[in-house]
Amino acid sequence: MINFTVGPVQANDEVRKVGREQVPYFRTPEFSSIMLENEKLVKKFVGAKDDARVVFITGSGTASMEASIMNLFNENDKVLVVNGGSFGQRFVNLCKIHNIENTEIKVPLGSTVTEEMLKEYDNAGYTGFLVNIHETSVGEHYNLKLISEFCKRNNIFLLVDAISSFLADELNMQEYNIGAMITGSQKALACPPGISLIVLSKEALARVEKNDPKCMYFDLKDALKNGERGQTPFTPAVGILLQINVRLKEIEKNGGEKVEIQRVAGLAKYFRDNIKDLPLEIVPANPSNAVTALHPLKNNANEIFTILKDEYNIWICPNGGDLKDKIFRVGHIGYLTKDDYDVLIKALRELNSKGIL
Ligand SMILES: *Cc1c(COP(=O)(O)O)cnc(C)c1O
Repeated sequence: MINFTVGPVQANDEVRKVGREQVPYFRTPEFSSIMLENEKLVKKFVGAKDDARVVFITGSGTASMEASIMNLFNENDKVLVVNGGSFGQRFVNLCKIHNIENTEIKVPLGSTVTEEMLKEYDNAGYTGFLVNIHETSVGEHYNLKLISEFCKRNNIFLLVDAISSFLADELNMQEYNIGAMITGSQKALACPPGISLIVLSKEALARVEKNDPKCMYFDLKDALKNGERGQTPFTPAVGILLQINVRLKEIEKNGGEKVEIQRVAGLAKYFRDNIKDLPLEIVPANPSNAVTALHPLKNNANEIFTILKDEYNIWICPNGGDLKDKIFRVGHIGYLTKDDYDVLIKALRELNSKGIL
């Protein structure tokens, strides 16, 4: 099987090797030092300031989205949420559940956030801005610079869900004045699912200090306190944290996050360049390097997904809901090479010649 989905994605041999070992006991100085190293490398790769902190949560990306909403905002806040797909909608739902006053900035399929759209909300008393910088459901990568400038001029706290964008698209917390960012283990980190993390700037840490979430597991104050010595309040997904350590060190050894982003961008470009003559339309206005969302002009997207899976042993990523029949996605994150794309491109060409693409 070749896995071109957007997560869980393929892991390399070194990461998989760790996965087959016994899981060690974790209240040890050895594990603590691995956790502190994970924190240091994550901070480095996202351009966080020295005084920023990272909390590792055992739970998928949504757990960190929810923990962020609960710890960074409260009833005194009024937030803007970019909603251009299912992950934007998830932020909206979380705000509703946790009683955070919110306004949706709806982004139609195939378009993006523009200066015009943001202008409307200048000087309107907003205190927070929530964005899934890569809306993975439709492959749209929003303009971080534009959003950052809007937040700066309005003194708004910016929370970026970069779960599928970290290590795939350029992102720098200091440069873009990002208050907090979220990512997870099963996207470009290319580890098994189960760990997500939040990088908290000094401003975010002050917000956490002030808040009192009615939840034990997601109270970040406790996680931050334990994190000072490289520990977590409860038993974490120890094995995955060890795999993350291997992967982060490998990225560092290969030249850092920029090199990894270039690698992912190179695969995305290779794929896109080689399907130009096929009846496939790229959906987003500005695609992320992490994925290419495609609309087949002649046939049903979900049927193409099924045929590739059943007859070619190739997994592309189907869409759900309203877009099920219209869009499929091809991921560029994880342990993939140009050779893998050659296999996919050949299969797509074959389907096209049979009239089923
Ligand atoms: C994958 C993803 C998530 C998290 O989904 P989980 O299934 O909870 O890991 C959140 N936001 C975005 C943008 C994602 O791509």
